[in-house]
Amino acid sequence: MRLSKYLLPTLREVPAEAEIVSHQLMLRAGLMRKLASGVYSYLPMGLKTLRKVENILREEMNREDAVELIMSALLPAESYMASGRWEVFGSEMFRLKDRSNRDFCLGPTHEEIFTETVKNTVKSYKQLPMTIYQIQTKYRDERRPRFGVIRSREFIMKDAYSFDKDEQGLDVSYKKMYSAYNKAFKRMGLDFIIVDADSGAMGGSGSQEFMVKSDIGEDTIAYCEKCGYSANSEKAVCIPDPAKDEEMREIEKIHTPHAGTIDELVEGLNQTADNFAKTLIYNADGKFVAVMVRGDRDVNETKLANHLKAVSLELASPADVMEITHANVGFAGPINLGIEVIADNEIMNMKNFLVGANESDYHFINVNVGRDFTPDFVGDFRTVTEGDTCPKCGGKMKICQGIEVGHIFKLGTKYTEALDCTFLDEDGKPKVPIMGCYGIGVNRCVAAIIEQHSDEKGIIWPMSVAPFEVILVVPNMKSEEQKEGGEKLYEMLKNEGIDVLYDDRNERAGVKFNDADLVGIPIRITVGKKFGEGIVEFKERKSDTVLELTVEEAIKKAK
Ligand code: ATP
Ligand code: MG
Ligand code: MG
Ligand code: MG
Repeated sequence: MRLSKYLLPTLREVPAEAEIVSHQLMLRAGLMRKLASGVYSYLPMGLKTLRKVENILREEMNREDAVELIMSALLPAESYMASGRWEVFGSEMFRLKDRSNRDFCLGPTHEEIFTETVKNTVKSYKQLPMTIYQIQTKYRDERRPRFGVIRSREFIMKDAYSFDKDEQGLDVSYKKMYSAYNKAFKRMGLDFIIVDADSGAMGGSGSQEFMVKSDIGEDTIAYCEKCGYSANSEKAVCIPDPAKDEEMREIEKIHTPHAGTIDELVEGLNQTADNFAKTLIYNADGKFVAVMVRGDRDVNETKLANHLKAVSLELASPADVMEITHANVGFAGPINLGIEVIADNEIMNMKNFLVGANESDYHFINVNVGRDFTPDFVGDFRTVTEGDTCPKCGGKMKICQGIEVGHIFKLGTKYTEALDCTFLDEDGKPKVPIMGCYGIGVNRCVAAIIEQHSDEKGIIWPMSVAPFEVILVVPNMKSEEQKEGGEKLYEMLKNEGIDVLYDDRNERAGVKFNDADLVGIPIRITVGKKFGEGIVEFKERKSDTVLELTVEEAIKKAK
């Protein structure tokens, strides 16, 4: 490709709108331009990298027998109504009506639509297991679009969905995706960590996130270097430490009710607590004693209030609930339901409180955690901080920030049941397939790669995702010798199958070298003053060393 014919609008100045390095560089290196808040157009270089990332994903998915197809982004409301997510998505869903006043949305994620497709195409157990995926545009009206394509309102997702006959099958499908994700992110040159995640938002039994370590990441990760324990802070736990706990904990008082049943409570939680982490606490005899509900950043007070009403849990008036919710939103602290703190409005020592559930006989006074019962997650009482004790090995835990680039879920039958998707099993009876879902943010990956691969001059693309492999620079187009040399080398590189960007512009040498550094193509070959002697300059973007090589040597090294 000749740069003189290309669209590469590089910027010298740092755009004021961009706070973080990847956003600044994506604008400065001419990869994209903003159209509206959280909406971007990709320019040719940006598109090339995006396609490289997509192809890595495609290859790794195909290797694990996942099959590609593509769905519409314009989706009828019915399936989302059937699953309950027409409501759950709230204002994050872009909604529209057609000319006959029918409801549609722009798909934020496609569990329902894939389930419908399987319902219409898969009849027999012989067709399972099956994993299908797409690389497709998603729409979410994010409350706070920011950081360029890291949190945008239109973005590309690789979303995969597995369908299995039984739990063991799901385990296998899940592991295959886990492996594909590992390989794909490694190939992209990302330094990432896999963390246990809350499965609250999607329902289901387990989930893990792939986090790119970065100070600008919006997720907080707690991890232990000694044993490898790592979890999103929304899920992370630690061994309680009374002194520290007392200092940190803020437990709000909620009156424990005596209306409704445990089953209703749990059922209600399962159905509606989409933004809440749930921890069920059992006593030593396996008797259910309490449920702890913890809201995440997106906790929605109306939903929590409705939810409490739905399970006839008259813990508090909706007004109280709102207060508690607000109090907890900022620091994602725990909202404890079913646990009554003995002293009013005091920060309590966790080892001394009354624990109870939504029924008269299920109350214990002066319960000692650990002595009287074991919560299913030890220490799920406050956000883990640096230096806390690892729940697995007793080591000291560390905290870092991460960008969520991928997320894998064991979904279960939430969607297949809601949408009445069945297959005929070996015994001739209809059964509901068990689902997993697996997402990767393609544009977010591009930004995350830049966050980890840049310097003060610009991007340093790993070869696997670089828009071009080589940039060929002719510093002085006025020199006939250099110009002819450039043309010759350009042809030679192309003939070798190397993807080369040829800077044949009539610009000053300084401009060309600065642009080459800014756009970050891994190899730069310069046709300079020594070309008459058959010598060109060879430089890798990631190093400062300039090699003087013969044309043949340079081409060989670039391959
Ligand atoms: P986040 O916690 O950052 O809001 P999420 O948990 O809502 O992300 P998922 O529903 O798990 O996202 O979607 C799968 C993947 O899609 C995420 O891991 C992320 O890489 C990507 N993604 C989600 N929302 C956005 C967005 N607004 N812009 C860009 N990529 C996104
Ligand atoms: Mg989100
Ligand atoms: Mg998330
Ligand atoms: Mg997620």
